[in-house]
Amino acid sequence: MDLGIAGKRALVCASSKGLGLGCAEALAAEGVNLVMNARGAEALEASAAAIRERYGVTVETVACDVTTPEGQAEVLAKAGDVDILVTNAGGPPPGMWSDWDREDFIKALDANMLTPIALMKALLPGMMAKGWGRVVNITSQSVRAPIGVLGLSNAARTGLTGYVAGTSRQVAPHGVVINNLLPGIHATDRAISLDGGVSRAQNISMEEAKAQREATIPARRYGTREEFGKACAFLCSQHAGFIIGQNLLLDGGATNLTM
Ligand code: NAP
Repeated sequence: MDLGIAGKRALVCASSKGLGLGCAEALAAEGVNLVMNARGAEALEASAAAIRERYGVTVETVACDVTTPEGQAEVLAKAGDVDILVTNAGGPPPGMWSDWDREDFIKALDANMLTPIALMKALLPGMMAKGWGRVVNITSQSVRAPIGVLGLSNAARTGLTGYVAGTSRQVAPHGVVINNLLPGIHATDRAISLDGGVSRAQNISMEEAKAQREATIPARRYGTREEFGKACAFLCSQHAGFIIGQNLLLDGGATNLTM
């Protein structure tokens, strides 16, 4: 299927590795020119070079922390008037409800709620003026069903989801489409780090921790960044124009819901 977005320009945040990289690769495969971002310059440059080489698209890079106001200004200055925005950043650390204080919540809200909101606020007017735009926010399955140890993530991402629900309907008349992608467990560094938490807490090997978590997923495996990226590219495509403010769960069936 031709997604009809060749020649568009996308800002993909937090995209040197993992799910963000999957989105960048899938958009590049459709002929979309990219602005990629991550804090670590080395991995960012390596991923950008691999995408240029493989897909022949233009890839610009911005090495900065996108969750800070300075980082957002840098990313936005490089991005200019993009057609597509994919928001993403690292997730908050796990813990117990009794561990977190105000500062922990402010940090999580900044990273996983207020950063995507600031980026949307900056880029939506340009998309609306052109009469076309696509935004995909990478959130989490924790929006549909809470994950106890990820209380900071549950809180921040649900706040973003509420914002998107209203905003997506306000910008839709201008041809701008905003949706969220909700990853369940995917085989990325983040998943390995969460396997590590299970391994330490239960005093079991990393392999046992992974097998234990895989057993909770009806698909009996972790998702891949490639399949996540393809879903993102579809939501950024011409064909997604009637999908407004939705939350697409990519979790191998792990969240036990009828709808
Ligand atoms: P990952 O494999 O750890 O990759 C994170 C990427 O984001 C890296 O490129 C990292 O590069 C970049 N990054 C992190 N913090 C950043 C920041 N402040 N500014 C700019 N770039 C930043 O993570 P992932 O698994 O792809 O997860 C992506 C998001 O989905 C996270 O929020 C995670 O919590 C959420 N999620 C993931 C899963 C899963 O199973 N993988 C499940 C549910 C939700 P640098 O470190 O160099 O900055």
